[in-house]
Amino acid sequence: MEKTEGFMKALKCRECGREYPLNATHVCEFDFGPLEVAYDYEKARQSLTRENIASRPQTMWRYRELLPIADKQPSVGFDVGFTPLLKADRLAKRLGIRELWIKNDAVNYPTLSFKDRVVSVALSRAKELGFTTVACASTGNLANSVAANAAAAGLKAYVFIPADLEEGKIVNSLVYGAQVIGIRGHYDEVNRLCAEIAGKFGWGFVNVNMRPYYAEGSKSMGFEIIEQLGWRLPQHTVVPMASGSLLTKIHKSYQEFIKLGLVAESKYKVHGAQATGCSPISIAHKGGMDFFKPVKPNTIAKSLAIGTPADGFYALKVMKETGAAADDVTDDEIRDGMKLLAECEGIFTETAGGVTVGVAKKLIASGRIPANDSVVLCITGNGLKTLDAVAGHVGKTREIRPSLREFEALIEAESKVNC
Ligand SMILES: *Cc1c(COP(=O)(O)O)cnc(C)c1O
Ligand SMILES: [Zn+2]
Repeated sequence: MEKTEGFMKALKCRECGREYPLNATHVCEFDFGPLEVAYDYEKARQSLTRENIASRPQTMWRYRELLPIADKQPSVGFDVGFTPLLKADRLAKRLGIRELWIKNDAVNYPTLSFKDRVVSVALSRAKELGFTTVACASTGNLANSVAANAAAAGLKAYVFIPADLEEGKIVNSLVYGAQVIGIRGHYDEVNRLCAEIAGKFGWGFVNVNMRPYYAEGSKSMGFEIIEQLGWRLPQHTVVPMASGSLLTKIHKSYQEFIKLGLVAESKYKVHGAQATGCSPISIAHKGGMDFFKPVKPNTIAKSLAIGTPADGFYALKVMKETGAAADDVTDDEIRDGMKLLAECEGIFTETAGGVTVGVAKKLIASGRIPANDSVVLCITGNGLKTLDAVAGHVGKTREIRPSLREFEALIEAESKVNC
């Protein structure tokens, strides 16, 4: 019997449209354009209805018809996704906006970032294609997620990272028994090396030869936003950009739900957020350019520190098409964004989330996001992994002996300061 490929039709070149078999391959042989998964939308439409979706478990796999695996069930990361979409009224008031939502992937399962979405897809597909060793080039969160999910799936994992990453991100890869290779260089050099290794070793590199499948996992964040908003599109979505892939896939997810009739078509903008210390996409968009110029990263937002973003060109295209803005924030503004979200909503995000909040604040203050519109902020990672970034910027513990008298003295001193 012929092996079925689920709802997938082919891999398709984003430039020339040539189609390829659904293997572990990522570039077009004719023009080196990136390959993307094409689906049988007519077939998907039969079963992907609001009613069916609502009856399924609350994970990202409830949208399985639009995720690139052949089998009926994923073999890796069955419980990933369906993170909270939180109405952020206190933060909304501080930023001066009517309707604000936080899509909180800081609590995604199992490794506390949106990367669990892309990894569960990539590793499930890698198993289908027969790989026993998986690998990635990472700015941190991807390494954590590949390490954890590979361990749970019984796969061998090699993760490649810049050697100077935050301690939290390094320990969070090592603990799962993954082979962690620190490269003395920035991410773009890690990535270049990984392209060479992928060609030689025949592993399932989630963001190299498995990239077309991997990237599709990001769409689940957009599907969830639409469903959790009560089947409507937000007018504005603010998305942090590293390679730019997540931003393009949020747009694709909105387009697919419109195409399948799951949500009414309405105007929306997908805004991009970067750190000023690594803002090739934001600079290009602000300058009205269709292409970015590579930069050398220097920012505390290490998870976003990609100077040559693989999907930068397509991210620029999406922002142009939807009439969106891009902007960037300094390291101090990133820390302020992290503190603002923590103090207003009780959510501790990592530096990338600080970038998203900081840029949203700028877009609202300048009127590029009008005060009466609806906004979703994509919070993509957890602050416990980047403690180094805010330690020393969050106030101090006050120490006393275990004595009621000393505590009363402290409170008394405080009341004097306050009036
Ligand atoms: C990887 C990552 C992103 C953005 O990834 P893209 O490469 O643009 O898809 C955003 N936030 C966090 C925390 C990440 O780890
Ligand atoms: Zn092509």
